Amino acid sequence: MRTRPALDRARLLAAVLVVCIHTGPLSSVSPGWDFWLTRVLARTAVPFFLMVTGYFLARGGWKDTQRFLKKTALTYLAAVALYLPLNLYGGGFGPLEWVKKLFLDGTLYHLWYFPAVLLGVLTARALSRLGPAAALAAAGGLYLIGLGGDSYWGLVSGLPGAAACYEAIFTLSSYTRNGLFYAPLFLLLGAAGHRWSKRASLAGAALSLAAMTGEGFLLRGLGWQRHDSMYLALPLCMVFLFSLLLRVNRGEDRRARRLSLLIYLLHPWVIVLVRGGAKALKLTELLVVNSLGHFCAVLALTLAAALALDALRPIRPSPAARAWRELDLDALRHNGSVLQSRLSPGCELMAVVKADGYGHGARAVARSLQRSGVRAFAVACLAEGIALRRAGVGGLILILGYTPPEEVPLLRRWRLTQAVADEEHGAALNAEGKPVRVHLAIDTGMRRLGVPAEDTAALSRLYGMKNLKIGGVFSHLCVSDQPEDRSAADYTQGQLARFYRAAEWLRANGFDPGALHIQASGGILHLPPQPCAYARAGIALYGVGSGGAADAVEAGLRPVLSLRARVACVRQLRPGEAAGYGLAFRAERDTRLAVLSIGYADGLPRELAQNGGRVLLHGRSCPMAGRMCMDQLLVDVTGVPGVRAGDAATLIGRDGGLTIRAEEVARRCGTITNELLSRLGHRVAQVVR
Ligand SMILES: *Cc1c(COP(=O)(O)O)cnc(C)c1O
Repeated sequence: MRTRPALDRARLLAAVLVVCIHTGPLSSVSPGWDFWLTRVLARTAVPFFLMVTGYFLARGGWKDTQRFLKKTALTYLAAVALYLPLNLYGGGFGPLEWVKKLFLDGTLYHLWYFPAVLLGVLTARALSRLGPAAALAAAGGLYLIGLGGDSYWGLVSGLPGAAACYEAIFTLSSYTRNGLFYAPLFLLLGAAGHRWSKRASLAGAALSLAAMTGEGFLLRGLGWQRHDSMYLALPLCMVFLFSLLLRVNRGEDRRARRLSLLIYLLHPWVIVLVRGGAKALKLTELLVVNSLGHFCAVLALTLAAALALDALRPIRPSPAARAWRELDLDALRHNGSVLQSRLSPGCELMAVVKADGYGHGARAVARSLQRSGVRAFAVACLAEGIALRRAGVGGLILILGYTPPEEVPLLRRWRLTQAVADEEHGAALNAEGKPVRVHLAIDTGMRRLGVPAEDTAALSRLYGMKNLKIGGVFSHLCVSDQPEDRSAADYTQGQLARFYRAAEWLRANGFDPGALHIQASGGILHLPPQPCAYARAGIALYGVGSGGAADAVEAGLRPVLSLRARVACVRQLRPGEAAGYGLAFRAERDTRLAVLSIGYADGLPRELAQNGGRVLLHGRSCPMAGRMCMDQLLVDVTGVPGVRAGDAATLIGRDGGLTIRAEEVARRCGTITNELLSRLGHRVAQVVR
C-alpha cells in the first residue's frame, strides 16, 4: 500500500514556518508580504503542532498523557540547558523571573511552546471530561479571552476594567498565547479530528485563510495588535487545514517528526551563529542584512545540524523483529488485585520476581506492580535484588536464596533483606560485624532452606546475634498446590501448624517474629486467608497455573505473557520430500512449510516440535514440523493460505479466536510453566503492551 504521511511531513513545513517567524525572510524585500508570511500564514504552525498532539493523545483515550508529559518535560529541560549560555550571556534572570520563564514564558523566545503544551494538555484532558462540545466551548471561551490580550488589544485596552485584568495576566506571562488561553483550544480541536471531504476542506481552508489575511491587515492598520499570534479566523483555518491533512494522511514518517522537532529546537542557536559568523567573515550584507540570504543561511545550517544529530541517534533493532515476549501489564495488575483480594486484611502481596520475573522481565513487572501499590518483592539472589533497586524499585526486597557473608556490604548498600538459610548462615552473616536486615527461614517440612521449626535452641541463638535485624519469619509449603490429594492436604496442615507454633514460641519467649509469611501461589489459591503479614505470589501473578490451567482460570487470573516470532520464509515441498535436521519431517502431500525465527536457544524446549507442538498463524492452528533448530523451527502451514515472510506467529497467547496457553506447552514437554517461562532467553526481546 502506498503511504502518504501527510501529518508528519506537515510538521517539517510547520517547523520551517517557525524559522520564518524568527528570521523574517521577506523583511528587506517587502514588509507587507513579510507581515503576511510571518504574522499571518506562519501563525498556523504552532496550532498545527498542538493539533497533532491532541489528535494522537485523544485517539489513545488520553492514556499516553503521562508518558507524553514526561517526554516533553525532559525535552524542555534539555532545551533549557541548551540555551542557558544565551540566557547567561544576556545577563540571566532573577529567581522569580526564572520561575515565570520556566513555567509560562519559556527561557528563550521559542521555548514558550513547551510550558504551553504541558499546561495545555493537562487542561485539555481535564476539559475533555465535560464531553466534547462543552470542552470545546470552554476552550473557545479561554481563546476569546486570550484574543483580547493579543491581536485585539486595541479593542480591549480601552475598557478600564478589562485592561486591569489583562495587566494582571501580563505580570504572570508576557503574552496571552502563553499559559491557559491558547493551547487547550487547538489541542481539543485536534482531539476532535474533524474530517470533511477533500474539496470542502480545501475550500474552507482557502476561504478562512483569506479571512485571516484580511483580519491581520485590518488589525495591523488599526494598530490594535499587542501581539500577533491569535486571530478569530485562526481556529477555523486550522480545522479545515487539519481536516485536509487527515483526509490524505496515510502511514507515518518518524524521521520527519524527529527532524521537525530538531529544527524547532536548534534554529535560535543557528541564528546567533550565522550573525556571529557573518560578522567574522565580513558577509553581514549578504547573510544578515539581506533577509532572504539570512533566512536561507539559517535554514540550511539548521537542517544540516538536525540531519547530523539525527544520524548520530543510537539505533536499536525493533524488539518485534525476530522473536519477542509481549507483556500485558493490565493483566498483571488485574492478577495482583485478584490475589490481594484473597488475603486476610492486613496481609500484603509480596511479588516474587525471581529468575527475571519468571521470564517476563523483572524490571517491567516490578515497576508496574509498584505503581499499583505493591510494596514488597522477592528475588532469588543478590544480583537480582540490586537490579531491582537500580530500576527504581523501593520497599522491601527479600532475597530468598543464599548470599555469602562477604556480600553483607552490598546487602546494606542496597537496603536488601536477606533470608537466613540456617543457623550457620545466620552466624556467618552476623560475624561480618555490620547490621544486616534479615528474615528467618523456618523449615516446616520441605527440607530445603530454613532452621528446623522445632529447633528452639537454634532460634533463640539466632535472636541473640546482634547484627541480625530480624524483620520477619517465613516458611515455604511444598505440596499446597495439590489440595485434592488428602495426604498432601494433611502435610500442608502440618506445615502450617509447625510454623505458627514456632512463631508462638518466639513471642512467648520475648522474641519478636516480625512479619510472618508462608503462602506462595498454591497457598493463596487453596488455603483460607492466613494470619500473616505477607503472601509471596509467583506463578499466579503471571496468570498461569504451575501444572494445569484450571486453578488460574477458576480464580479469574489472566496470562500476562505472549510469545511470538516472525516468519522468515515459506517453502514448498512435493510429496516425498523431507526437511530439517535428520530429515525428520517428510511431506506426504504438497506441503508449505513456514520457517519461524525462534528456536531452542531462545528457551523453547527442543522436544516441543516433535511432541505435538503447534503455533497460531493468521488465527489458525499449525503443527510444528521436524526437529527444532537452535534459532529456527518449521511449521506446516499447508492449510493456511497467505502466510508470508514477516508474519507474526504466536507460540503462547491469543491470535484471533484461538489461544495456546503456557500450561499446554509445558505439559507437552513434561515440565511446569515455571520452568518453561523462566527459561525464555535474553534473545527474546520484550514488548510492553
Ligand atoms: C519461588 C518461591 C515462591 C513463589 O512460588 P510460586 O509458586 O511461584 O508462587 C515463594 N516462596 C519461595 C521461598 C520461593 O522460592
